[in-house]
Amino acid sequence: MSAEQQIISLREELREHNYNYYVLDNPTISDYDFDIKLKALQALELAHPEFYDANSPSLRVGGEVTKNFLTVKHQYRMYSLDNSYSKEDLLDWEKRIKKLVDGEVHYTCELKYDGASISLTYENGSLLRAVTRGDGTQGDDVTANVKTIKSVPLQLKGTFPQKFDIRGEIVLPFEGFIAMNEERLEAGDEPYRNPRNTASGSLKLQDSAEVSRRPLECLLYNITGNDLGFATQFEGLEHARKMGFKVPEAAKLVKSIDAVLEFVDYWNIHRHDLPYETDGVVIKVDNLQQREELGYTAKAPRWAMAYKFKAEQVSTRLNEITYQVGRTGAITPVANLEPVELAGTTVKRASLHNADQIEKLDIRERDAVFVEKGGEIIPKIIAVDFSKRHANSQPTKYITHCPECQTELVRAEGDAKHFCPNYNGCNPQIIGRIQHYISRKAMDIEGLGGETVALLVNEGLILNYADLYTLRKDDVLPLERMAEKSAENLINGIEASKKVPFERVLFALGIRYVGETVAKKLAKHFKSIEAIALSSVDELTTVDEIGDRIAESVVEFFSTEEHVQIIEKMRKHGLQLEISAEKLASQTDKLKGLSIVVSGVFHTVSRAELKKLIEDNGGKVSSSISSKTNYLVAGDNMGPSKRSKAETLEIEIISEHDFLNLLS
Ligand code: AMP
Ligand code: ZN
Repeated sequence: MSAEQQIISLREELREHNYNYYVLDNPTISDYDFDIKLKALQALELAHPEFYDANSPSLRVGGEVTKNFLTVKHQYRMYSLDNSYSKEDLLDWEKRIKKLVDGEVHYTCELKYDGASISLTYENGSLLRAVTRGDGTQGDDVTANVKTIKSVPLQLKGTFPQKFDIRGEIVLPFEGFIAMNEERLEAGDEPYRNPRNTASGSLKLQDSAEVSRRPLECLLYNITGNDLGFATQFEGLEHARKMGFKVPEAAKLVKSIDAVLEFVDYWNIHRHDLPYETDGVVIKVDNLQQREELGYTAKAPRWAMAYKFKAEQVSTRLNEITYQVGRTGAITPVANLEPVELAGTTVKRASLHNADQIEKLDIRERDAVFVEKGGEIIPKIIAVDFSKRHANSQPTKYITHCPECQTELVRAEGDAKHFCPNYNGCNPQIIGRIQHYISRKAMDIEGLGGETVALLVNEGLILNYADLYTLRKDDVLPLERMAEKSAENLINGIEASKKVPFERVLFALGIRYVGETVAKKLAKHFKSIEAIALSSVDELTTVDEIGDRIAESVVEFFSTEEHVQIIEKMRKHGLQLEISAEKLASQTDKLKGLSIVVSGVFHTVSRAELKKLIEDNGGKVSSSISSKTNYLVAGDNMGPSKRSKAETLEIEIISEHDFLNLLS
């Protein structure tokens, strides 16, 4: 056998042993024999560098050092999941789903593994890249580290799509976690707090050899891409297994929410027998086409739902209640607690939400309280232990004046929160607003960070975001830690923001209730800030999904003299306060007033493009058929009940071809 053949055959053999050991938990040779073969391969590879292969099993031991992790954009966004906590939540979810899709709905139930999420990209059967979730749109390239995790196949088995992403969770099983901590204790180091943080910390280690020594595992749960060759989530999981991925066996296909609940009940008890942490169950609509019909909200798929197991609770003492002022002036009471361990982290503070919450639970300083960690990062107080209350304890008096500017607080009818009305004179509000303005999804001003904004405001250099545009280098140079270069970057970043498109400027203004999606809708409908400013509540609410609450907030914003002046200033400085001519050119009124439902699979344009075309041409995309629907654009595999509903209501059913003709 030639050296090349020997290398190839050893690689194949070792790959298979890795798979048996790490994926199937079923080794067929001893560790000793494995090592001998590995050493033989390493020796051959050393002697024949011409046969180098980045995916050789010999490279599992790591060695590559990453100084800075490259930021990579996800081809398919990594969404978060909506949470549910009860049977009612799940039934509500099912109701929402049934309104949007036809036919029976089946569900795949999976466990929600508590680790670090990861997206693996494979091309032609080999691992191309491993990227952390990051903010969902982009994450860090941690390929060198992930390659050392033995349950991640570097080379796939069987048949596989040409290119796809597979998502999963990198977890640190308890056993390995405990062993690591024993070593640390022996070495006199602080033990790690919990498996999840240790797993995600491991991915960001610079030395991949160190990562390879950690007993991490990668559990996979979702394949994303085009032409995947399967029609359901459950088939996708089976397919992933066949390609060599570690897909936990707990996944189960069920036909009703009742069966989902049985799964939840079962695992609520048996999860404690698992080798790694789980914090709930993830329920996914099984049929991929139904999923496509359901789509996504801004944050999460409509076709999936996490069910959180009941959280752990501890008791501790509430030392003091303090109050924070947010960007909108909203006051948030904060409980400062006697530090306590909870679900692996030390808890010192908990949110108390608002005055009602304090009153309802009758929470007082020095009380013994029960703290729970739910889905949120900040834990919450769920009850007071009245048996331990001090005899001379007094009910909590909620503050009446702003802790920052001493203005008297107000509380509008229907609002849970108190607000500081000193909109333009209360520093946390001013700072918060400008921080929102410069944030990534808003104006994304490079070279200007949140702390600098605070400095600029506290030094009296700016009072609002429009003032940013009059800043000069000489103004900012004297600021703490501001060097020549950073001052220049800051000014350039501010200048560059003048090109940010209107819809993002609108979002950046920080109008209450006007989030990213609402800003887009308003921009598209009204096309300029002037038109929005001149609109009444009634006009605003004619826009899809704009309700009274948002409309009133918009009207209020533009009827405030200060805002009018700020916007005037922004206009003078050349910010984009209307939709650009290019964008306008691609828009028409051809579908004005028409409500259109899109269903099925299309060929010349994607479903998303189709929807965009409808909106760009003045039409309204609606998710369900009603008597108000004007057209149903039908693709392949449209649900039969949609068709019959359209027929009963005598709604015109057109093909994608007909639709495109409408526009041309
Ligand atoms: P959250 O971070 O609470 O929004 O939940 C979303 C995260 O749950 C995802 O980013 C995944 O990392 C994680 N997750 C764990 N297990 C699963 C699963 N079986 N399916 C989908 N996501 C999961
Ligand atoms: Zn104030």
